[in-house]
Amino acid sequence: MAIVRPLPDSVDGHRRLALDSPIDRQPIDEIEVGTTEDVERVVAKARVAQPDWAALSVRERARIVRSAVQILVDCREEIIGTVCAETGKPRIEALMVEIVPACDFLNYWSRYAHRVLRPHRQRLHGSLRPLKKLYIHHQPLGVVGVITPWNAPFVLSLNPVVQALLAGNTVILKPSEVTPRSGEWVARILHKAGVPDDVVQVLHGDGETGAALVDADIDKVCFTGSVGTGRKIAASCAPRLVPCTLELGGKDAMIVCADADLERAAAGAVYLSMFNTGQVCMSIERVYVVDSVADEFIRRVTQRAAAVTYGAGDADMGPLFWDRQLDVVTRHIDDAKAKGADIAVGGAPVAGNGLYFQPTVVVGATHAMQLMTEETFGPVVAITRVRDEDEAIRLANDSHYGLSGSVFTKDSDKARRIAARLTTGSVVHNDAAVIYGVPEAPFGGRKDSGVGHVNGTDALRGYTQPQPILLDRWQTERGSVWYPYSQKTIQSLEAVVKYGFGTKLGRWLTS
Ligand code: NAD
Repeated sequence: MAIVRPLPDSVDGHRRLALDSPIDRQPIDEIEVGTTEDVERVVAKARVAQPDWAALSVRERARIVRSAVQILVDCREEIIGTVCAETGKPRIEALMVEIVPACDFLNYWSRYAHRVLRPHRQRLHGSLRPLKKLYIHHQPLGVVGVITPWNAPFVLSLNPVVQALLAGNTVILKPSEVTPRSGEWVARILHKAGVPDDVVQVLHGDGETGAALVDADIDKVCFTGSVGTGRKIAASCAPRLVPCTLELGGKDAMIVCADADLERAAAGAVYLSMFNTGQVCMSIERVYVVDSVADEFIRRVTQRAAAVTYGAGDADMGPLFWDRQLDVVTRHIDDAKAKGADIAVGGAPVAGNGLYFQPTVVVGATHAMQLMTEETFGPVVAITRVRDEDEAIRLANDSHYGLSGSVFTKDSDKARRIAARLTTGSVVHNDAAVIYGVPEAPFGGRKDSGVGHVNGTDALRGYTQPQPILLDRWQTERGSVWYPYSQKTIQSLEAVVKYGFGTKLGRWLTS
């Protein structure tokens, strides 16, 4: 991500921000910060455009959105160029983290949205079935604000925007001020595919613009970002009862069981802590390894981490995406050192202009250290030895975060048993992070890691109001219990209770 610097205001009074490259701090771009008036203007346009977009069937919307897959494929080099310039990430990571999952999300949601969102009949249970029929429609909410972070700026913007559109909403995307053009590409490919301009709009700016969007006349907020900002957004939504989905930070733990494949576990610990320079909400931030295999595991992790290359171009690892992150990682490592941890590999920022931090392995990390309690978001494998799996589970759960978790074992039944005891939104066996790329999985955080889901049918339906429509089967002159009350009504209600629920056969028939 780019380094953000304030510039003098524009002639029309807009605040301006300069963006410098995280690779060499050279200027790469500038943006104007959207004001409250700008927000109100785009929201008004979105409001006007929404009924016509909602009037299309889900299949019609999906046909338009689906044609963006080929456009994305055709534009991929330009998108990769933008993402790499703004974040400094290696091309392979732009392909892997942004382009491939973005193609998959577009392809998947546009193919299956109608199955999730089409009006459907819900069979009623025994006591109601003779009287009524139930249909469920999914009505769009209206105008949705999508606010996104900088660590995977293209795909994390594309996924919620596409879902909200398919559900019949119009969308205003406020990408991170650190990666504005990567977010802008989402609207660009959708417009090329035929989504009308006012149906998806991008508004640039920083927290002030984001806050103005949340306060504007919108019907839902989908936010991905830090816990602190998530709390502010929830507080702003509360007085107007505007629903919000909050995908927030994580401190994901990896448990290495005694029966783990140690080669895979060591390779996984290094990769899953360091890819995207460790700036992934579900990257491994804590490793708990069972004592009986800890020496061998640490030896292999150390060897692998020492071989990770970093720098511009084709290195394994790029820079941290912005300067504030470099400060956080440095502070956590210094704190761990001061509290007695052993720095087995790396442990310091790299001298020079770029925002590079050495691939780092910390052994003997404890929960007294910030490294094990606060989100580090850097290329650090932090390892703690534990007596057994019970201790690993206890420590993994000892966190105010609860995004995802990871269990390395050769026994998949054991992985499921351990997963059931972890207080996290998801768990991955012999891997991590990849769960976000599974659109079928209802991905979301527990505790401080968030509210709601960004994938799975819940996420897509979360951009709608489910509207149950109860149809009358018999169209009789009046309802069976309506006025005037009579002795006959009382007798039939008593019969329902006595024979419908008071006998075994009755309970079976009415359930
Ligand atoms: P951030 O909270 O600083 O900013 C995120 C977005 O919110 C940006 O667009 C920013 O301009 C905007 N914003 C800032 N203040 C605002 C306010 N008061 N009201 C409305 N909008 C405001 O987060 P970040 O530093 O960009 O992102 C990193 C964080 O995101 C990490 O904590 C990471 O774990 C988290 N994250 C979570 C997920 C997930 O799926 N759970 C995915 C990626 C990143």
